[in-house]
Amino acid sequence: MDLKNFFNKIKSEITQKGQKQNAELIQTQSHWIKCPSCSSMMFFKEVENLNHICPKCNYHMRIGAKKRIELLSDKDSFIELDGELQPTDPLRFVDSKSYQKRLEEALHKTGRTSSVVSGECSINGIAVQLVVFDFAFLGGSLGSVEGEKIVRACNRACEKNQGVIIISASGGARMQESTFSLMQMAKTSAALRKLDNAGLPFISILTDPTFGGVSASFAFLGDIIIAEPGALIGFAGARVIKQTIGKDLPDGFQRAEFLLEHGSIDMITDRNDMKKTLSDLLKMFYKDVA
Ligand SMILES: [Zn+2]
Repeated sequence: MDLKNFFNKIKSEITQKGQKQNAELIQTQSHWIKCPSCSSMMFFKEVENLNHICPKCNYHMRIGAKKRIELLSDKDSFIELDGELQPTDPLRFVDSKSYQKRLEEALHKTGRTSSVVSGECSINGIAVQLVVFDFAFLGGSLGSVEGEKIVRACNRACEKNQGVIIISASGGARMQESTFSLMQMAKTSAALRKLDNAGLPFISILTDPTFGGVSASFAFLGDIIIAEPGALIGFAGARVIKQTIGKDLPDGFQRAEFLLEHGSIDMITDRNDMKKTLSDLLKMFYKDVA
């Protein structure tokens, strides 16, 4: 069975199992969770109601694409596009397990065939193209499908005279697609250049974690680059850098606050203030928006 047929089969199975999965989800959500930063124990529902921000230490926990879209877009305004794009396995890549097996597992886990959800929505009444990474799908890695979705969002923005917002949460380029994934860095950068030539804004939001080929391409090409508090952002991991240069790294290295202090990003915005910040910034770019 080829990958496309496989994905379609799994998708229909997921729909059939929907009720069972919902029940399992409710069960999971009734659990206690521990804040990764201050170790406080909290009831899952409480944290969920606080948009997964720790009430004790303001730690911004990782959230999925669905929740991000819900928090940023006007109610029922988001329309997903290009959701039908599915990855192929041109290299038939195998390491400890095959790429096809990893894709199957990621699909079972998330119900999606890509680490990116993209589409159109309005943010406090302003229409934009929104691209959201989900770390739960193969570490939010950038493969051919993800790159293509970003390019299509940029092209739509140029046609419709809109801005683009990309929310990154990614370990970097997807190694299982090798050069095909590395090419997405150039491809997305070129599409953003077209957007820039058209005088349209690109706002890049970096969340925990944003690394590798993603931070080395589109994520740092934003007209405005915003990070969530405490987000870990960099190219190579701290351990690799420490081993390479043979020196201890400064406190808070690769945290959003460190990057702001050193001029790599423009601002840090709390998750709960992000929607208003985005619409304020978009109004600045579009003079005709009230
Ligand atoms: Zn905490």
